[in-house]
Amino acid sequence: MEEVIYLDHASTTPADPEVVSAMLPWLSEAFGNPSTVYSLGLTAAHAVQQARESIAGSIGAEPEEIYFTSGGTESDNWAILGTAEAQQKKGHHLITSSIEHHAVLESMEYLEKRGYEVTRVPVDGGGLVNPEEVRRAIRPDSILVSIMHANNEVGTIQPIAEIGRVTREAGVLFHVDAVQTAGKLPLDVKELGVDMLSMSAHKFYGPKGVGLMYLRKRTRITPLLHGGGQEKGRRAGTHNVPGIVGMAKALELAGARMGDDAVREAALRDRLWQGLEGVIESIYLNGDPLRRLPNNLNVRLDGIEGESMILMLDMEGFCVSSGSACTTGSLEPSHVLLALGIPAEHAHGSLRITLGRSTTADHIEKFIRVFPPIVARLREMSPIWCANCVCKQRT
Ligand code: PLP
Repeated sequence: MEEVIYLDHASTTPADPEVVSAMLPWLSEAFGNPSTVYSLGLTAAHAVQQARESIAGSIGAEPEEIYFTSGGTESDNWAILGTAEAQQKKGHHLITSSIEHHAVLESMEYLEKRGYEVTRVPVDGGGLVNPEEVRRAIRPDSILVSIMHANNEVGTIQPIAEIGRVTREAGVLFHVDAVQTAGKLPLDVKELGVDMLSMSAHKFYGPKGVGLMYLRKRTRITPLLHGGGQEKGRRAGTHNVPGIVGMAKALELAGARMGDDAVREAALRDRLWQGLEGVIESIYLNGDPLRRLPNNLNVRLDGIEGESMILMLDMEGFCVSSGSACTTGSLEPSHVLLALGIPAEHAHGSLRITLGRSTTADHIEKFIRVFPPIVARLREMSPIWCANCVCKQRT
């Protein structure tokens, strides 16, 4: 079988072999339920507590401020819906950005249908939120600001510490979706000034289906899941012990290699852009050219569809993503690219390439060789590509 070259690390990452080894005993011989009181259960409870302490230490939090969840989606939903319910007496207004993940946007829409008001602050052409826009959006009845740390499509990194200063001055709770930055950028919840922060293990070489929420002490929030009283009664459900142990291991490993990974991946990413930009006509960078994740390259190409590029790249063994199709399989252009001011027809021709630990210089050179002929072939067949007509002058 031809080698698969995986360039979709923003979507998910493979669990590190050390993570898998750390998890295995908790799936088999040490399978106890941490909520039980005999030694098998207490051993599991001890492992969960150790994971909590290790994770807390790596993000500047206290262990009791870490709540284990099933991943980024649950943490985002909990932060928004749980705050809305707990803060009802204060108000019904929430603030977010126009480029959040669907886990945030759909939770906001859910609340809007129930009478809450949501302000979506705009972003600039690179996808950056201006903290002053957040300040202007805050009202006496505002209860939560939710802004992501880095965007999952274009990789733009938001000025979270500055926004944190604004929310603190205004006395409004601040939630940050750090799903794309955990394990990639240093995170300190105190320096960032956040009250809640979401993370998901499968984005940093940990297992799928496990994540966490950092919840600053004394933050009022109602539970999303009700049941057995785990996590101090705030998040019910038997602990995913192997997942939690694996997530802590993955974060520890990511912390140790973060700087080296970032430098290596950014250099490969820059070589990729330079190689493509040099030979492909009408190719543009999406997102902020400087304030972005080290492993993210998001480009748009005139005259072709993202989906057709993905399928042809797949035939050459490459896994990449499009910025245009949403998870439901609809062909709506990406809300992120539209919010950046990219016209719908250009947003459709976008491709997200996200590098990772397994990416080598050979993979990048192969991509630079393989991709331009694919673009040429698709443009030959394209009814909307014409070498010298207006579509070239639109950008
Ligand atoms: N938030 C962001 C920014 C993401 O990129 C993702 C996953 O793609 C999520 C939330 C959802 O995380 P999970 O897959 O753990 O539910």
